[in-house]
Amino acid sequence: MTIDIFPAKEGQGRIHGMREYQQTYEAAQRDPNAFWDRVAQRLTWFHPYHTVREGDFTDGSVNWFSGGRLNVSFNCLDRHLKTRAEKTAIIWEADNPADTQHISYKQLHREVCRMANVLLAHGVRKGDRVCIYLPMVPELAYTMLACCRIGAIHSVVFAGFSADSLRDRILDCGARVIVTANEGLRGGRVLPLKQICDRACEGLAKLDSVLVVRRTEADTPMVEGRDHWLHEAMKAQRAYCPAEWMHAEDPLFILYTSGSTGKPKGVLHTSGGYLTYASYTHETVFGYRENDIYFCAADIGWITGHSYIIYGPLANGATTIMFESTPMFPNPDRYWDIVERHGVNIFYTAPTAIRALAAKGDQWLEGRDLSSLRVLGTVGEPINPEAWQWYYDKVGGGRCSIVDTWWQTETGGMMITPIVGANPVKPGSATLPFFGVEPILVNEHGERLDGNDVTGHLCIAKPWPSMARTIWGDHERYLHTYFSTYPGYYFTGDGCRRDEHGNYWITGRVDDVLNVSGHRLGTAEIEASINSAELVAESAVVGFPHAIKGTGIFAYVVLQADAESSDHDVVSFSVREQVTRDISKIARPDEVLIVSGLPKTRSGKIMRRILRKIAEHEYEKLGNLTTLADPNVVEHIVEAHHENC
Ligand code: ATP
Ligand code: MG
Repeated sequence: MTIDIFPAKEGQGRIHGMREYQQTYEAAQRDPNAFWDRVAQRLTWFHPYHTVREGDFTDGSVNWFSGGRLNVSFNCLDRHLKTRAEKTAIIWEADNPADTQHISYKQLHREVCRMANVLLAHGVRKGDRVCIYLPMVPELAYTMLACCRIGAIHSVVFAGFSADSLRDRILDCGARVIVTANEGLRGGRVLPLKQICDRACEGLAKLDSVLVVRRTEADTPMVEGRDHWLHEAMKAQRAYCPAEWMHAEDPLFILYTSGSTGKPKGVLHTSGGYLTYASYTHETVFGYRENDIYFCAADIGWITGHSYIIYGPLANGATTIMFESTPMFPNPDRYWDIVERHGVNIFYTAPTAIRALAAKGDQWLEGRDLSSLRVLGTVGEPINPEAWQWYYDKVGGGRCSIVDTWWQTETGGMMITPIVGANPVKPGSATLPFFGVEPILVNEHGERLDGNDVTGHLCIAKPWPSMARTIWGDHERYLHTYFSTYPGYYFTGDGCRRDEHGNYWITGRVDDVLNVSGHRLGTAEIEASINSAELVAESAVVGFPHAIKGTGIFAYVVLQADAESSDHDVVSFSVREQVTRDISKIARPDEVLIVSGLPKTRSGKIMRRILRKIAEHEYEKLGNLTTLADPNVVEHIVEAHHENC
């Protein structure tokens, strides 16, 4: 039943040594079309493309693999059935550690087909949008893959978002169908998802159906004609659904960015280029092998979960873990418990989680058998060297490769990152560009900074297959955000240093760069230093108007669990000394405020724009707070600031 017009080449992604990295990188630079043409053979195409790439950054319009036909769900499922039917595709690790489910490729295929038929029965057609507001349950994977099977466009909304955030996203993408659950379970707590969904959907004219997963026994009011239990609907469908022949450039999904810098953007990804890149990077960067147990601890509500829990791993026929709970439940050793029980080989998480776990103390790792681990990844923000070292020593036992992967919702896949088996790593550096990625640094005037040992704004000079194609419903914003600042280049919004050996260090958002007495300082470097000070768990620095220096440095500091009662002056002194020692007197914070927590997005990123407003005493102008994980944190910080500053 598999149509092998071009058989997928497996194992083509593994790299052995720095020389091979360089040769491959140079080959991709010399002839990008030939390079990506070869890589794209890893997918199964129903019909070959006629052109590898069309367009460039001059008008921000790029197509990959034009004329080609494929189906993403077919690539993640059907083509594995010949050789991997009984292999576990998804290990579902429920909130309760005693509930684990192994879902084979064959089972996954059947459930996805059923789900696709349910969507068809509810009138969903090619190009329609389906909004998914689900916790980390298997139905989330079924729905995503079912959408791509029939050509519908999914938009996953993280199940921690409020009714207002959900409503904004449903309206923005014009979804006809929503898939949700009666309740969610996370960290032993119950999330009333259906209730939130009902509030979000009030009076929405365009909405046809709400499909409800029964995650708990609880009942929920069902709106007649609109709401349906998903398990009943699926039972009524056959477990076969043909896969649509999609164009390579047909939309695959919409995903909203974290909103760290403002109103979230509905980033649109398409089919052929996205899957090529997600699967190729998953195999190459992690050095993935056929029998690995792979665990990405992100939520599927973020791009990391899309590319590296679902699409990349499943396209590669991998066993991927879907984790419903939090690293702290029932205890702060849940990750290590999972690693031990399932024999995880590759583990991927975010620096914010690493810091939180390190702050809980090493006793949570003691006695755990983590010897199956081979590769550890991080993503989401610069990792401070102290957290890196803890991850390397304590989790990896000094044996594992660490890949610090820099990328964005808009890039679809990892862009600057170490590659397992290729380059030597440096704590805190994302090191070198992936194949086909040409990072460049420019100064404020848009002049290219060549050579090493330079700092500037990070841009990408050449199109890559998984780049976002537009912002849903607002192409002008897309062109304006990414292609107008430095014409001819994709602008990332991040600052970056290329060191004397050509390694890249992300210094933080360009908007966050501090200009202190004429010196440009990145927030990441100062925070890394503060975090290494005694008593400190984590920190965030922002600038504030300063009569003499132009910009002063304001540091918000969260203390370690056992240091919470420490004296303010002691902490302030130790922080200021640390920064002076590590960086210089210029970088020394003018103000240090101890706070109980930092304002973070749901994906764990610090929202410095809020902290900037607080530092400026502009408590009334904090802006959009809808993507905050815990809005109460802001009140506490405002109080602490009001009292002390
Ligand atoms: P918005 O664009 O709405 O403000 P966001 O940028 O936080 O939201 P994401 O796409 O989730 O949304 O985050 C991408 C950003 O995360 C990058 O631009 C970068 O600032 C940061 N980042 C991701 N990985 C790394 C890393 N390994 N090192 C340093 N920074 C990273
Ligand atoms: Mg961004």
